[in-house]
Amino acid sequence: MGIGLPFLNSKPLTLTFKIPINGFSRFFEELKNGRVMATKCRGCGKLYFPPVAECGECFSSGMDWVELDGEGEVEAFTHVVVRPESFKRNPPYTLVVARLKEGVKVFAKLSNVDLAEVRVGMKVKLKTKIVGDEAIYEFTPV
Ligand SMILES: [Zn+2]
Repeated sequence: MGIGLPFLNSKPLTLTFKIPINGFSRFFEELKNGRVMATKCRGCGKLYFPPVAECGECFSSGMDWVELDGEGEVEAFTHVVVRPESFKRNPPYTLVVARLKEGVKVFAKLSNVDLAEVRVGMKVKLKTKIVGDEAIYEFTPV
């Protein structure tokens, strides 16, 4: 069929994908209950945060949910002044990467602290918080 030939447009096609959240809905449920969860491989014991369904070390898909205590130490931080559109109404905020005592690194906002007090090595704790109808996690100083 050549481009110059007469043609009709078909009805628009809509593709809908079913994206499985089954494996991770537990994470969000537990967050609402005040618990931050990781997954731990039954095969080799590696701990994952954010949770994963399959182990990248031994390729096992046997994972257990484990609650993180949330205590950790800041390894890196940045202060965000130029915010994305969706955060424009919020004041500038600080983001940190902290290594938890369980060994995993967590990237999250650090609240309830002045920027001048933030240090690498600072002790922080992961807390959950309900914002609107969503549960989130963030760090606060210990
Ligand atoms: Zn494994």
